[in-house]
Amino acid sequence: MDNCIFCKIAKGEAPSYKIYEDDKTYAFLDISKDCYGHTLVVPKKHCENVLDCDEETLSCVIKTVKKIVNHYVKNCGFKGVNIINASGEEAQQTVFHLHFHILPRMSKDEYDAFPSLCGTIAPFEQQQELLKLELN
Ligand code: 5GP
Ligand code: ZN
Repeated sequence: MDNCIFCKIAKGEAPSYKIYEDDKTYAFLDISKDCYGHTLVVPKKHCENVLDCDEETLSCVIKTVKKIVNHYVKNCGFKGVNIINASGEEAQQTVFHLHFHILPRMSKDEYDAFPSLCGTIAPFEQQQELLKLELN
């Protein structure tokens, strides 16, 4: 897609620090330098996020995420990972080409990648009534 920075990176038309590539996916370091090893995994085919992505493309991206996180823990000295995705502007997505963030974790790395939320008083029954999904 024209003017999509992650399409350009995945095609090698814009610079990136590549971590991994196969025929369907591309992984590279996030530009932010906010934590050691912050990695983004994207499909080569453009889609905006999890909501509009076809299942096959999503499955390829998730397989690459797994490959990389297993590599980080097995071979690179990390002890765990946070995997984060924002789908939609309201979910704080800023680049509208599907991507998963990998934040590799060390013991005592002293940052908090899991948000502390402000809480809800809505009863569980009400939430379940709105949210439940039948098997089809
Ligand atoms: P989002 O907020 O959409 O979940 O995450 C977008 C991420 O893309 C941010 O963490 C941001 O630092 C990263 N990013 C934005 N532009 C570039 C770029 O040109 N190159 C790289 N490597 N990362 C980028
Ligand atoms: Zn794109």
